[in-house]
Amino acid sequence: MEQKFVGFKCKACGRVMSTKHDRCLSCKATEFEEVELPKVGKLTTYTKLYTLPQGIEMPPLTLGIADFSGIRMLGQVSTDYPKIGMLLKPVWGKLRKLNEKDIYGFKFEPLE
Ligand SMILES: [Zn+2]
Repeated sequence: MEQKFVGFKCKACGRVMSTKHDRCLSCKATEFEEVELPKVGKLTTYTKLYTLPQGIEMPPLTLGIADFSGIRMLGQVSTDYPKIGMLLKPVWGKLRKLNEKDIYGFKFEPLE
């Protein structure tokens, strides 16, 4: 399954948000357009979780915030050795199981 890695750009002020909101967080406008985000981000912070929400099968889970040219995205980082500043690419995949259903989304994978 191929998915586009996109953000939502406010048509009024141009602010790009990583998830869709009803109103722009800056100017409260309500119209957005999808914009493709950069393919490479930088890990700005992370945490390791040992007690996981139901349905995530592989502890510890590394959860990080990656910066894609100023757009910050929260997500799972697919490495046991995260480093601040490492380069990451978004990869679409299975995140967890919820009520027997697979939940998909973007994870971040180290570039090398
Ligand atoms: Zn706006």
